[in-house]
Amino acid sequence: MEMIDDLSNQKRSENSLLSIVIPVYQEGSHIRSSIGVIKGVLLENQIPYEFILVDDGSRDNSWEEIKLLVQEDSNITALRLSRNFGKESALCAGIDYANGDMVLTMDADLQHPPSLIPEMVKAWRDEGYDVIEGLKSSRGKENRFYRACARLFYYIIFKTADVDLGNASDFKLLDRRVVEAWKEMPERATFFRGMSAWVGFERKQIRFDVAERVNGRTKWSFTRLIRLAVNAITSYTSVPLHCITVLGLIMFFGAIILGAQTLFMKFSGRATSGFTTVILLQLIIGSSIMVSLGIIGIYLTRIYKEVKGRPRYLISKCIKGGGTKC
Ligand code: UDP
Ligand code: MG
Repeated sequence: MEMIDDLSNQKRSENSLLSIVIPVYQEGSHIRSSIGVIKGVLLENQIPYEFILVDDGSRDNSWEEIKLLVQEDSNITALRLSRNFGKESALCAGIDYANGDMVLTMDADLQHPPSLIPEMVKAWRDEGYDVIEGLKSSRGKENRFYRACARLFYYIIFKTADVDLGNASDFKLLDRRVVEAWKEMPERATFFRGMSAWVGFERKQIRFDVAERVNGRTKWSFTRLIRLAVNAITSYTSVPLHCITVLGLIMFFGAIILGAQTLFMKFSGRATSGFTTVILLQLIIGSSIMVSLGIIGIYLTRIYKEVKGRPRYLISKCIKGGGTKC
């Protein structure tokens, strides 16, 4: 273990390479300026870098812009997924292709402040942390409904899976070892925030204020968010499955009481209004069975997806600065 520690510390120097993975979806209007800003911070602090830009099947001019960027800077690698696979898959692709001693994931819209990068790199290099995670100290501009939903979602996850993701973001710096551990995880449907919390390692948290989007608008429609939330909850916990058992138990006790009451009524000769009980029972049983089946269905869908073993993403194009193939 000491050996490993020594080795990993030796690697951490001024010359350590930082890979910056950025998923890009319909960000053509400002990707160039965003990269410019980030690069400015890196050059100023003399951090050796490479960019992995993952175009998540954008239909605007993002890919054209990215291609131009690659021609200008040989430290940029660009991947284009064959269609829109979603941010999670784009992150996976980018992380798989990153070569750095540390890998930083951030958004293309500058909502994750690049000015924090030097501090994160320093925490990795000098303080020996393996995971430096950005925590949102404020959630930026969001409408109230969205905020309430996000809160509820994180509350469920926290209560059921014991990982506090309340203010977590996808703004993270990971050590090479963590990246390798992440790659070992075979599941197809990923939830980056949760999985990178699950792996553990030495962690440090840095707070940041979510800036306003530089341009364009958010790609998370309500249905997309719901899908992400269901995905995250079912991949994080099997508590909903246990809920069925609990529900069953409650139903059972209810049934005993109701049954006793019904019998008592019958034997005392007052069994005229049994009709209501029957209807009530039918309703309760019917609805709880429906709910339970729904939950089982969600898990079955997951199992079905994992069993199919499809790749997380497909790359249609890859170009690397300097014209070399990747
Ligand atoms: N993104 C992506 N694929 C998608 C949706 C978003 O790669 O299907 C990227 C997007 O380009 C951005 C990041 O994920 O770099 C965050 O997206 P966005 O800013 O729309 O989300 P928000 O900040 O509103 O949560
Ligand atoms: Mg954003």
